Amino acid sequence: MNLTDYNEIRSLLARHGFRFSKSLGQNFLTAAWVPERIAEEAGLDETVGVLEVGPGIGCLTEQLSKRAGRVLSVELDPSLRPILAETLTGCENVEVLFGDVLKQDLPALVSECFPGLTPVVCANLPYNVTSPVLTALIESGCFARITVMIQREVAKRICARPNTSDYGAFTLFVQWHCETEILFDVPPSCFVPQPKVTSSVIRLTRREKPPVAVADEALLFKVIRAAFNQRRKTLVNALNAGLGLPKEVTEKVLISRGFDPKIRGEVLDLGGFAKITDEIHSLDHADL
Ligand code: SAM
Repeated sequence: MNLTDYNEIRSLLARHGFRFSKSLGQNFLTAAWVPERIAEEAGLDETVGVLEVGPGIGCLTEQLSKRAGRVLSVELDPSLRPILAETLTGCENVEVLFGDVLKQDLPALVSECFPGLTPVVCANLPYNVTSPVLTALIESGCFARITVMIQREVAKRICARPNTSDYGAFTLFVQWHCETEILFDVPPSCFVPQPKVTSSVIRLTRREKPPVAVADEALLFKVIRAAFNQRRKTLVNALNAGLGLPKEVTEKVLISRGFDPKIRGEVLDLGGFAKITDEIHSLDHADL
């Protein structure tokens, strides 16, 4: 069966009485080149175990199965169970787990399902939970690569450079942990039902170590969050509002590290935030 042929999909879904759920981000692919290319870009071979989030009717799962050692697909919608049982017949290296990916113990799943294999992620993500899912996948620290299709707008935020409107706290979180690339775009016409927005496939490659050194990583992200919670304010005002740092202290911190005391956080790269964080970290409590 051709799992990306529009007519075959419609008759399969009708036979099983399946209804698309908007709240589960169900937009299934109807262009064969897309799942093939996503799977190709994921860098798979028999030494790799792939976690897929949201197999839908299994068109990407099938491509992953052909290329990887093992595939574990986590699907939230139980009404897809009989459909996947039919479409994935013959994909011996695939296991489907029904549940919410956000509620899984990812390190435990990975060590149970992929012993001796390099764990990676490859998926067409449900768009309504893109950020929490990516955060959980990255924070688990389990995956060497994450190759996923997401909304173009979120892809641009993840790969953004400083001093652009797409740049923000999420950009810095992802870039702290991973190297980021946008690989290619996919138009709405490649899905049923068609989403309103263009999609992009991105690849996140886990860094062996953070891109810059910082004394206190938790403080770095407090500083970043405070800076972007009030992104139109100067960094001095944003850190005053977000962290309660006296303005004159932050001014001194910025000047001592060679920054203009009137800068906004959005002009800083990770190195800039790390320098400022280290200076705040080294402050004597008497200064605060
Ligand atoms: N992989 C299929 C494709 O490319 O045609 C379907 C992708 S569709 C964009 C997203 C899939 O994720 C749906 O099957 C949806 O039911 C599933 N899903 C939504 N939220 C989920 C969650 N929290 N955990 C696991 N699966 C989820």
